[in-house]
Amino acid sequence: MSSNQNDVVFFDENGLRTDGRKPDEIRPMKIKIGVLSRANGSCYLEWGANKVLAAVYGPREAHPKRTQRAGQAIIRYRYNMQSFSVEDRARPGPSRRSSEISKVSREAFEPVIISDAYPKAAIDIFVEVLQADAGTRTAAINAASLALVDAGIPIRGLVSACAVGKVGGKIVLDLNKPEDNYGEADLPIAMTEDGKITLVQMDGNLSPSEFEEAMELVQKGCRQVLEIQKAALMEKFAANIDFDETVA
Ligand code: UDP
Repeated sequence: MSSNQNDVVFFDENGLRTDGRKPDEIRPMKIKIGVLSRANGSCYLEWGANKVLAAVYGPREAHPKRTQRAGQAIIRYRYNMQSFSVEDRARPGPSRRSSEISKVSREAFEPVIISDAYPKAAIDIFVEVLQADAGTRTAAINAASLALVDAGIPIRGLVSACAVGKVGGKIVLDLNKPEDNYGEADLPIAMTEDGKITLVQMDGNLSPSEFEEAMELVQKGCRQVLEIQKAALMEKFAANIDFDETVA
């Protein structure tokens, strides 16, 4: 969050944001499932100007062997930002930021992946950010969720993620880059289909009542994302189901 936030105009005279959205509107999302033939599951997702690619491998024997767990599969998540994905070239390789995002994103999935079905195995989730415009960790989680389904990994439900924040004194959904840079707060969350929150982070300041308002709004955002994820799954997989032959 920048200190010159007071100089930035976030809303026009109609209360619309710099990219024309209403405060409670998410950016347009495009999804393609199954884009990589060598991965067990994959998903390419665009959210506004964010472009991310998720690949899932496994369940496969965990290596090195000392990482294996007798009663369950281990889950690994690697979030990586390509150097060319940002305005000022990002330094290649892991950073504190990418390690943190990888850790919290893995934790966002742990409650939904039925890992005890695969002792000694590893489930690897890789996410590459190809173009970044704020909200890459949430975009990555949404793509990873669908790549897990594409890989046939047993899950209790989808994970949907969205950010909420405060800009120009207002609570708004799914911050874009200027809002993220110059706004007062940014709060990414991830949520399961049955409404359990598996990730909450917060940068900036919110009062308790603003926090409550933000949490309510962001859960609505996650529900919107869930509907888009489900539509993408229907598009990918429903074409192969002959509903007439389905046994009642
Ligand atoms: N960003 C950047 N360089 C970096 C890290 C981030 O330009 O090394 C930009 C990028 O557009 C990113 C945004 O800042 O999407 C917000 O980053 P943040 O750490 O809040 O994570 P995100 O919102 O992408 O999950």
